[in-house]
Amino acid sequence: MKKQNPASQVKIVQNGDPVLRELAQPISVKDIVSHKIQKVIADMKAALTQQEDGVAIAAPQIGVPLQIFVVSGNVLDAALERMEERVEEALKMGKQKKHSDMVFINPVITKLSREKEEMEEGCLSVRWMYGKIKRSSKATVVAYDEKGQKVERGASGLLAQIFQHETDHLNGVLFIDKAYDVQEILPEDLKK
Ligand code: ZN
Repeated sequence: MKKQNPASQVKIVQNGDPVLRELAQPISVKDIVSHKIQKVIADMKAALTQQEDGVAIAAPQIGVPLQIFVVSGNVLDAALERMEERVEEALKMGKQKKHSDMVFINPVITKLSREKEEMEEGCLSVRWMYGKIKRSSKATVVAYDEKGQKVERGASGLLAQIFQHETDHLNGVLFIDKAYDVQEILPEDLKK
């Protein structure tokens, strides 16, 4: 159990909830700056911050079937410091984030490398399962940011993996649909 502040807690939907299997809807660009969408983004950032091991989250994971995902600034910090493989360690250190969280709205993967890598993966909506999955080692996403500006971002490693995992969420796909050697690893086991 974790200490939680019920007033500010954003609930993360778990596997079995139909919202995780819906096709998320696109957002009209003029609505991005609306109070409604900005509130969804704020809730997603809050949900991510509440999870010690959270690196990214898609809107359906807080029960909102819209095409948005958010990547924690911690991921960018870790990538910059070439600590990607130790991102959990970096998260646990509880450092002040240098980068702000990155918001991707109506994201489209425009490029995927043919080369794939076997990666370890888990999901905030499939507690506490972890498995292996083959993902393209590089990916490019075109999306709108939270101000409604069009952005293109290429990535490798963890960030490329996140792009693929999160766009899957927006298509109603969970990592367990594709992963193998899936096993339950409870947080208390990780600490051993
Ligand atoms: Zn997930």
